[in-house]
Amino acid sequence: METVNHCAHCGKQLYGRSDKRFCNDTCRNTFNRAQRQRAHTAGYDSFPEIFRIIRKNYEILKKHGPDPSLKYESSFFQHGTIEEIGIDSRFFTSIWQENDMLWRFCFDYGWCPLENEGWMICYRHKQLP
Ligand SMILES: [Zn+2]
Repeated sequence: METVNHCAHCGKQLYGRSDKRFCNDTCRNTFNRAQRQRAHTAGYDSFPEIFRIIRKNYEILKKHGPDPSLKYESSFFQHGTIEEIGIDSRFFTSIWQENDMLWRFCFDYGWCPLENEGWMICYRHKQLP
């Protein structure tokens, strides 16, 4: 019995040697390139979703945050929790520890939950020296 081989790229029936996998070099090259591309992007599937969340966090912080033109100590108190305004606190771009306060930043806006109630929000100055 004869087994019929098909091109691993385009699926066309192959003739000739039984160990042949592709109809031609174009199919081989295209297949190998796609294979490398898949290997390169494997494991990065969740990136767009994380970028989307960080961007959303940033937009919310910007909306609630201090005016960036108030250069120094432009941080202020907010009631409630950070989650109430829609922040997903699992995702941020950098972190800044100041005494017992841990600030999380999405780019140039940061927030820090307070022990008893509320949280602080600031613009840039705590993140960068
Ligand atoms: Zn082919």
